[in-house]
Amino acid sequence: MEMLTGKVALVTGATRGIGRAIALKFASEGADVAFTYRSQHEAADSLVKEIEALGRKSRGFSADAADFDSAHEVVAQVHKEFGRIDILVNNAGITKDGLMMRMDEAQWDSVIDTNLKSAFNFTHACTPVMARQRGGSIINMSSVVGLSGNAGQCNYSASKAGLVGLAKSIAKEMGSRGIRANCIAPGFIATDMTGTLPEDVRKEWEKQIPLRRGGRPEDVANVALFLASDMSAYVTGQVINCCGGMNC
Ligand code: NAD
Repeated sequence: MEMLTGKVALVTGATRGIGRAIALKFASEGADVAFTYRSQHEAADSLVKEIEALGRKSRGFSADAADFDSAHEVVAQVHKEFGRIDILVNNAGITKDGLMMRMDEAQWDSVIDTNLKSAFNFTHACTPVMARQRGGSIINMSSVVGLSGNAGQCNYSASKAGLVGLAKSIAKEMGSRGIRANCIAPGFIATDMTGTLPEDVRKEWEKQIPLRRGGRPEDVANVALFLASDMSAYVTGQVINCCGGMNC
């Protein structure tokens, strides 16, 4: 039996990396999947085709996740076209690294807006739908550095810590309506985001990982599947690290 039969998922930032792996994992487990992306139209079209080939319905929406009105328009359209929304994955994210003393206001604002405000935008738009359905699972893509901090990433770490506070608050506020909210804190996952790191830096990171390898997007997608499914029906307000033990 597939784990998400009859469910509708909305994943932000899904044209590549972790979001893409989650969209495909959910579809392979029986969910219809709507997703957002910024500007990669070809990648969005091919993701829709891959999901449809799995026998599921899919549609990609080009929208800036940091924009409050766009998020509400997307959610209204998904609800209209798909009939319900059971799972929201707040995955869209960027890095604009720099030491605190050299960080400018734009670097701070864009990371907070894209990583944290986006999650507020979509959660704000989806929770009325989920409350009417008396159920839903919200998954925020945090990071191990949101729990530990990281030199050179004060903006990113703050945004990822904010996602934890957001999920824990939603868990308390909306548990009585059957809405669960949790975070995944990935460690070092091989995607375009980490692909720009020099080889020696990557090797150094990997040495600190007890499981001795970087993570794959599919490793994170498996945790998302658990949190999206009824297997985690009694799990809310939690952070699950997916980091090969690097933050244990
Ligand atoms: P990625 O750069 O490969 O993918 C990020 C996705 O977000 C892309 O599809 C991009 O188009 C989308 N996106 C960015 N800004 C957007 C916006 N304003 N509106 C809509 N979509 C937008 O990165 P990834 O590694 O797949 O990361 C996915 C999530 O996981 C991010 O939130 C990231 O912070 C988090 N994460 C990644 C790692 C890692 O090691 N890769 C570790 C911890 C957390």
